[in-house]
Amino acid sequence: MNSITDVVVIGGGFSGLFHATHLDRVNRDVLLVEASPQPGGIAGTIIEDGFVLEPGAGTFMLPHRALTPILDAAGVAIEETSQAAELRYVWMRGGLVAIPYSPRAMLTAAISIRGKARMAVEPLIRRRSDDDSEESLHGFLSRRLGREAGRLLAHVAASGVYAGDPDNMSAAATFPLFSDLEAEAGSIMRGGIRRLRALPKPRPPKPKSHVPVGGMSAAARTMAASLGERYRADFPVTTVVKEGDHFRIEGPETLRARSVVIALRPDVAAAILPGIDTEGLHGWPSSPVVVIGIGGTVSEVPLPDGFGFLTGPDVEATILGCLFESSFSPRRAAPGHALAKVIVGGARNPQIIDQPDDEIVAAVVSEMERALGTAVTPSWVKVVRNREGIPQYDLEHRRRLASLENVEAANRGLVFVGWGYRGIGVAHLATEALKITDRIE
Ligand SMILES: Cc1cc2nc3c(=O)[nH]c(=O)nc-3n(C[C@H](O)[C@H](O)[C@H](O)COP(=O)(O)OP(=O)(O)OC[C@H]3O[C@@H](n4cnc5c(N)ncnc54)[C@H](O)[C@@H]3O)c2cc1C
Repeated sequence: MNSITDVVVIGGGFSGLFHATHLDRVNRDVLLVEASPQPGGIAGTIIEDGFVLEPGAGTFMLPHRALTPILDAAGVAIEETSQAAELRYVWMRGGLVAIPYSPRAMLTAAISIRGKARMAVEPLIRRRSDDDSEESLHGFLSRRLGREAGRLLAHVAASGVYAGDPDNMSAAATFPLFSDLEAEAGSIMRGGIRRLRALPKPRPPKPKSHVPVGGMSAAARTMAASLGERYRADFPVTTVVKEGDHFRIEGPETLRARSVVIALRPDVAAAILPGIDTEGLHGWPSSPVVVIGIGGTVSEVPLPDGFGFLTGPDVEATILGCLFESSFSPRRAAPGHALAKVIVGGARNPQIIDQPDDEIVAAVVSEMERALGTAVTPSWVKVVRNREGIPQYDLEHRRRLASLENVEAANRGLVFVGWGYRGIGVAHLATEALKITDRIE
């Protein structure tokens, strides 16, 4: 029998990479295995004709309590984006309305004076009575901030982060901070102020948008390389079986481990666990998205300064969001060129995944022209379909998570991590990685 590794991490996307890097950092005997030749999972950078398109995550907000030490430990090179990243827009009322990424956001023209007046009385709004049913994101934000601001914020937050439907997403699962602040202080604003006051002095630096030098794939390769022999590519795991005090992991060869961290989507995880009751891993919804790179010279694709825009609730459009990649990160296009990253599809338009490329591109370009108020004539276009899609933390998400925790409790040493479960962004994945030693043998 070959030797027993302390922890095997399955899946070399950013979740698996963060977990393995952290475990390595705390001197655990860890091995990360990835099915494909390259690490990084869905966040695999496309570099073509001078354009750098990120089909998944593309930026990090740093410094971050969990992300910063992990990236530093692996030696990932990062650089700050330009100031433009502070400026974000909503497409509404026939054009782009600025929502600064700061407390000044409260002054935005996106919300009427009446709407702002209602927002201002948020601290006086009582909590929900003892109704413990799951509340939608739209329901929660409208109850706290009023109908106008609640509808706008729920819509852009749901589509900007989850490509989701705010009426069907759980407030507590998608943006737990808001629910926690209400639970702590009876109000989002009061809770936010209390937390700010409790911060140590001097205050930690404000997180700013950063990009990995060379793209997310370069960051993934650096993390994999820093693991040395503790990273194995081309290692598709076919089964994981409990055997006495350890797990047997079958792939191109047999591995044994005391703990197994499964950094895979729920359906993919269920498929490799034949001997385990995987009821808790079925029925997790996700919504397909298409990412479109729209590139050209700066006169062909004239992008404003800024991070990008999200489409507001009253605009009939295919585009969920459009990031002005080359405006905030000049390395994403060659000098004199511009690149926009557009996201379409999601919970409210999943069928677009089957539309031909030229139809999707034509719709996107004409909508960009409407939003930006100028002609857009790209000379470089890339369409990337993500059929498995973005996990949807819907009204059943927390119930599903509880039954997944039963699977973990019944199989001590087996844990499930990744963007499908307890947080969708890369910062959540890093936060989860920092807590892994409490969950494994
Ligand atoms: C359009 C889009 C935009 C996004 N924007 C942002 C953003 O701005 N900010 C942000 O923080 N996040 C963003 N995200 C989310 C972010 O990209 C994800 O959180 C992250 O990439 C998910 O990583 P993961 O490791 O959980 O999963 P995955 O990337 O899916 O990794 C799973 C890995 O497991 C491997 N694998 C599968 N089966 C096996 C097997 N049997 N054996 C071994 N290996 C296997 C796969 O090859 C893959 O490498 C975005 C996502 C999308 C789609």
